[in-house]
Amino acid sequence: MRGSYDHEEAAHNAGSLSEPAYLATAQHFDSAETMRATAAGEREGWVYARRGNPTVGYLEETVAALEGYQVDAEVSAAVTTTGMAAITLATMPFLSTAVGDKPNIVASPACYGSTVMVFDKRYGDERGVSVRWVDDPLSIDSWERYIDADTRFLYAESPSNPTVQLVDIPALAALARRARIPLIIDGTLATPALMRPLGLGADIVVHSLTKAAGASGRSMGGAVIARRDLDLRGQPAEMCADFAGYLRQGPMRDMGSVLSPFNAWTLLADIRELRARVDTMSASALRVAEHLAGRGDVVEVFYPGLPGHRTHHLAKRDMWLVDSGGPGRGAVNRFGFLLGFRPAGGVPAARRAMDRLGLVWRANNLGQVKSTATIPAIGTHLQVAGDDPGDAPVPPDMIRLSVGLEDADDIIEDLDQALAGSDVTGRRSTSAAGTVAGIAADPAE
Ligand SMILES: *Cc1c(COP(=O)(O)O)cnc(C)c1O
Repeated sequence: MRGSYDHEEAAHNAGSLSEPAYLATAQHFDSAETMRATAAGEREGWVYARRGNPTVGYLEETVAALEGYQVDAEVSAAVTTTGMAAITLATMPFLSTAVGDKPNIVASPACYGSTVMVFDKRYGDERGVSVRWVDDPLSIDSWERYIDADTRFLYAESPSNPTVQLVDIPALAALARRARIPLIIDGTLATPALMRPLGLGADIVVHSLTKAAGASGRSMGGAVIARRDLDLRGQPAEMCADFAGYLRQGPMRDMGSVLSPFNAWTLLADIRELRARVDTMSASALRVAEHLAGRGDVVEVFYPGLPGHRTHHLAKRDMWLVDSGGPGRGAVNRFGFLLGFRPAGGVPAARRAMDRLGLVWRANNLGQVKSTATIPAIGTHLQVAGDDPGDAPVPPDMIRLSVGLEDADDIIEDLDQALAGSDVTGRRSTSAAGTVAGIAADPAE
């Protein structure tokens, strides 16, 4: 992937092989007239860093190229300070009361903790938006039931963090198209290396670039990528024509959530290796997931690459390593780098296993080149965790593991030694069961 920075462009940048980092906050002009023409958009230039910056622009073009690859539509992108800023910017403009004073949104509850907070607290409690969480994101009826003339958008994460559930994007896109509202997908976990939701019919995609896009862990960032010429009921024409461009020139510029050019520069370096990295990390994650699923002291493994996973069929259909051929043409399914598992013995066992990790880092991040583990219920998803290990949106005893670039055997060895010491209650009950079995067997002797 070359992106927008090519040989010709390098020639204007002292031959620099990498995109230059323009860290200045403003541009100097040779005359008042050039200043006016640039500010008016009649001439190329960037004026002031909140309105745009060349290094940030390179990242926007790169992200648009990746997410729009093999998509039969024109797409554009806006990058933001964080993934949450991207989600806020991608959704808030649709809630304008100029369109109607009783907006509602329909969303999958299997969402990142802060996304649930934005919808429930910032939109619901503070702004009176009716937030309709669908009962079963896999049932299309369950979505359709909640859509009415005041619905502003459909929203889902696919796969979701941390239970890695997919949604049926083409089916939801058909619903959205009929209602003339946008389908917004958080594609952070799949990354464009494995899935491009715009190609499956979604209208807008959001990403946390903090995750696999920025795998070296140096910068936060987010992105909104949208197809152009959206057909949306009641929304302003300029917003529909080029949603990402509209964000850059309106809401983002006014509210100030622009990415620092330095962060854009580090993300540009990382994102270039996205495909190779996600390929290797996903292949390792499948091995780790299969290994954990084979351990007697692991109650449940969440990974869409395992045939027993609830959305394995969707993952088989929609998650392909980019440029590995099409379905039926030698293409390679890859299921991502994130998995979850519940050690036998409940919360104490999960905590003990976490504490014993020696190679894997205990950290609330994912998609990094370094493998990281967290217990979402006490970390990333503290706000939305439940008490019931079986049914809660985020089981309290679930360890989330993001598989990095270390050797898969080393990761497995670390997990094995961590689990071997973790199953306190489980081991006790196993040995108790063994004793009982032994007693039961004894009388025969
Ligand atoms: C981390 C994450 C976010 C939020 O991104 P930040 O860069 O931390 O703001 C949103 N969605 C998903 C799926 C995430 O994993």
